[in-house]
Formats: sequence, structure tokens, C-alpha cells
Amino acid sequence: MEKENNKNNKKKLIMVLVSILVIALVTLISLILIFNSQKEKENLAYTELLNHIENDNVENMEMTVGSTTLKVKLKDRENEEDTEKVIIPNTQAFIELVHDKKEQGKEITLNELPASAITTFVNRFWSVIPTLLMVALFVMLFKMQGLGDKGVVYDGEENKSDVKFEDVAGLEEEKNELVEVVGFLKNPKKFKEMGAKIPRGILLCGKPGTGKTLLAKAVAGEAGVPFIAMSGSEFIEMFAGLGASRVRKLFAKAKKLSPCIIFIDEIDAIGSRRTGGSGAESENNQTLNQLLVEMDGFETDNAVIVLAATNRPEMLDKALLRPGRFDRQITVAPPDIRGREQILKIHAKDKKFAEDIDLADIADDTAGFTGAELSNILNEAAIIATVNDHEAIQRDDLEEAIKKVTVGLQKTSRLISDKDKKLTAYHEAGHAIVSQFLPTVTNVKEISIIPRGVAGGYTMYKSDEDKNYISKTEMEEKLISLLGGRAAERLVLNDISTGASNDIEVATKIARDMITVYGMSETLGPISLVVDTPEELRLFGNNIEDEIGAEIKTLIDTAYVKAQQILNANMEKLHKVAEILLEKETITQEQFEQVFKS
Ligand code: ADP
Ligand code: MG
Ligand code: ZN
Repeated sequence: MEKENNKNNKKKLIMVLVSILVIALVTLISLILIFNSQKEKENLAYTELLNHIENDNVENMEMTVGSTTLKVKLKDRENEEDTEKVIIPNTQAFIELVHDKKEQGKEITLNELPASAITTFVNRFWSVIPTLLMVALFVMLFKMQGLGDKGVVYDGEENKSDVKFEDVAGLEEEKNELVEVVGFLKNPKKFKEMGAKIPRGILLCGKPGTGKTLLAKAVAGEAGVPFIAMSGSEFIEMFAGLGASRVRKLFAKAKKLSPCIIFIDEIDAIGSRRTGGSGAESENNQTLNQLLVEMDGFETDNAVIVLAATNRPEMLDKALLRPGRFDRQITVAPPDIRGREQILKIHAKDKKFAEDIDLADIADDTAGFTGAELSNILNEAAIIATVNDHEAIQRDDLEEAIKKVTVGLQKTSRLISDKDKKLTAYHEAGHAIVSQFLPTVTNVKEISIIPRGVAGGYTMYKSDEDKNYISKTEMEEKLISLLGGRAAERLVLNDISTGASNDIEVATKIARDMITVYGMSETLGPISLVVDTPEELRLFGNNIEDEIGAEIKTLIDTAYVKAQQILNANMEKLHKVAEILLEKETITQEQFEQVFKS
């Protein structure tokens, strides 16, 4: 993609230079011509010329076509060479006048000389310049609106991918599922002769950063076919009907390049469920419809595979998932501990590490991290190590990098009022103390009131082992630890703050999922209450929405009360931890556990 852009830029630069050169040259010639014609001073008035004609005193007249000056040779001049110049106010009228005089029997000759090539060219040039400028202006306007620039906007970006499967760490099952696609792209004929049908569309589902794009590129790289990438959000820009035409062009291009891969990132941007709306929505429908038409319209000899990525497969229109369209789904999960170690290994290749650093340790500390976050951590660590003038990346560089990627950059420069500090100290201490009494919540690793990113402070927990299931008790205890911050504010400062907004948001989401997704409510029972329309929900009774709300509220209220109970019973420790925080700003795991020993 880069290279292609560079080529385009060079071409543009050359065009601009050539245009400037041409304009400069023509201007120069025009100036010379104007200068010359100014030298030819008028030395005979038009009326005088008319008198000379009347008196038969004109021997010969010469005029260049399109010019307004006339060279006149008079009979009564002594020197043969002498000519006079006359400026003609209206050439057409003058030519007619000469014609009339001839018919009346006068002997006059008017030679019309053809204009010189240069003069004609210059005249023409200046007459088309305004048009050219207008055209250029329009082209620029259109480009600014993202139209017209074919390489980038209409057709999607095409690229030879040099990513291979070995560059994608972990994800073994996912790669296995794609091996047959690679085989097909390498030798579509073989599959066709066998009568084997290969899926046209494959949906890659997974959180951002899990490696969906990487995987798609690797398929193209392994098969050695072009990779045409486009993002769903690009389809829904500005002009009505444009999205659909882009889809059409994208597929037309793919058919030309076949065998190849089309990669549509963020397909949910176009493929969200259709609702009979208007405006942007119907524009969206057109785009989606076109996509469906194109998916259905593949000929058997087109070896084009469409890979699409989304992190919200449940949002997609069901029509997209029908047979012949995106009928195969591959879930790309965040890596487990082995996968994390492998990803770290890949991204550590070109970096220098201190000897005591073990990537397995880092993998152990980063449960739930995606490939993108891991690669990001190593990169940040390298930057931090460079800034700190270290020979190689050290343990503390890595720790700092992990914090930076997870909670944001440490903001030591931000001035914090004492009141805010006290609030944050009690808030974070509240989280930490409450967590200490919850068996399923992992141990506290570090507490700090130094702001990072948007958070005023943070409580970090030891990472969890990789888990496939989370129990109801775990979720309830998670709610309690989340509300520990707000509970501490309430109990100690007798007031509550906006600092808990994120905790509350997360807690509410967990509580809602417990009820509606995981069927954990005793009264409502194990039913999924995730539906498309309110009508579907009514299946479960007219008051179902109220009941869901009440259940969520009960979960949150119970957790909040429980958090306050724990803190009330451990008020001394809460004060102690908050005090240390106010003094030292950061508490490590050992320091924190010390509070509970004494
Ligand atoms: P997604 O498309 O799922 O959001 P990407 O494929 O764009 O994620 O991944 C972003 C970056 O993260 C990749 O370019 C790569 O550097 C790194 N990455 C993610 N997953 C892996 C993996 N399994 N192996 C190696 N690198 C990975
Ligand atoms: Mg991506
Ligand atoms: Zn909090």
C-alpha cells in the first residue's frame, strides 16, 4: 500500500512540475510577443489610411489573420522599404470596406497572411486557461470529498501480502480451518474438477487486536494471491448510493484479479440488521443489498474468497449468514498463556532484552491480553528502555509498559488537590480492602493514587488464570469489589463522587448480563433475554422489562450493601491503607498484605 502511494505521489509531482513549466514558457512567449507588438508603434491613424485609400495612394496592405495591425505601403513614399503601421479598430468592417472599394473599381490589394504557429498557439492557450482552471478546481473538490481517486476509495486497497502463517502465533485451530482456503486459492482448478465447493465468505469474529486482519493477510500471503482490503465504515460515507457502487467496484476488481482475497474489516458497519428506516439507514440497506447480490453472483470460475471481520457477529443481518454467503464463522479468541508466550516471542525477535527477562513470566502476567496489546507492550517497553538509557529492556521497563498499555500513561505532572487525593485514596483503598475478603477475587498487586489515563487512581489485581467459565459467585464478588470504591467514599467522606462512574458502568453491565445473557436470575429462570425487538421480550410477560430492571437492581444493591459491611468491619485497615497511599502514592502487594498481618 505504501509503495503504491509513493508511486502515485511521484506521478502527481511530475505532472505538477510539467504543468508549471508549460505555463511559465507560454507566459514568457506571450510577454515577448506583447513587447514586440508594443514596439510596432502606430504611425498612421486609421482615418488617414482611409484618406490614402480614397486618394489611391495605397500600393499594398498586409495583415496577419486574427491581428489588428496592418502594414501599409504608400505610393508617395520615396524609400521602397518604408511601411506604415495602422491599428484597425474593427478588422471585419475594414475587410468589407476594402471589398466594397474593389467592387467600386479601386485598385487596392490586401494580403492576408496566415498567423504564425506560435501566435495562434499562445492565443488559443490563453483562451482555454479559464476552462482548465475550472476543471482543475472541480477535480480538486471531488477529490476532497473522496470521489474520483480510484486507487484508494472505489476499489479498496490491493496488496501482495508477505505475512505467512508462521507470523501468526497461537491460533492453531483458526489457521487449520483456513488451510483449505489457501489450498483452493493456490489451485482453484483442482477443487473445481473434483466438484468441491469452497466457502465463499468466511466471517472472522473476535475482539479488536486478536489478529483477524493478520490472519486474513496470512491466508493471502500463504496462497500468494492479491489481498484487497476495505473497511465497512468506508462504505457508508456521504453520498447516497455510493456505498453500493463501491461494493460493486470492489467485487469487479476482485474478479479481474482472481484468484484473490477480499477482506472487509468491520463488516458490522454495513451488515447490521436491516430495519425499515430512512436516510442513512436505507443507504446502508442499499450497500448491504449490493453486498448480498455480489456474494450470490460469483461464477464458479471466480476464485475469490471474501473474509470479513467483526467483533459483534450478533449484530449482523441474518441474510449475510445464509448458505453461499458468510456461512462459515471462525472465532478468533484472545490467546491463552501458551499463545501469549508465542506472540511475545514473535514480537521480541527484533528487540534487546536484559538476561533476567523471561517471556513466559510476562505471558503469565497478561491473562486476557490480545495479540495487539502484547505487541504494543513490547514496543512501549523498548521505547521506555531507550528513554531511560538502558542497555537492554529491563524488568521495570516492561512493568511500566504493561501499566501504560493497561491503565494509560502515568500523569505525574498533573496537579491534584488534596481533597481529590484523599477521595482517590479512600476510593482505591475501598476496592482493595473489600477484595481482600472476597475469595474469588485475585490478590491485589498494586494500588496507586497516581492518575493514569482517565483514571484518577487504580487498583491492580494479580492476573487470573485462563478460564473458560465464570461462576455466579465470582460475578457477584466482582460486583462487590467494583462497588468497594463507592462504598468507601460513602462511609468515610459521607459523600459520593463521579470517580466511581466507570466502576458503576462495568458493574451494571455485569449485572445485566447475569440476568439477560447467562440466565442467572432465580425468579426469571435460565432464559436468554437477549432479543431483537421489545415485542419478542413481551413473550415472557408484559412486565418483563420491569422484572429485569428489578433483578439487576437487586444484584447491585446487594453488592453495594455487602461492600459497605466489609468496610465497616475493617474501618481501621481502610484508614491505614488510605493513609499510606496519601503518603507514598503507591502501595505494593507486600506493603498491602503487611496491613493485614499487623
Ligand atoms: P484485529 O484485526 O483482530 O483487530 P490485527 O490483526 O490488526 O487485529 O492485530 C493487530 C496486531 O497485533 C498485528 O499486526 C500483530 O502485530 C499483533 N497480533 C495480533 N495477534 C497476533 C498473533 N496471533 N500473532 C502475532 N501477532 C499478533
Ligand atoms: Mg483489524
Ligand atoms: Zn474505582
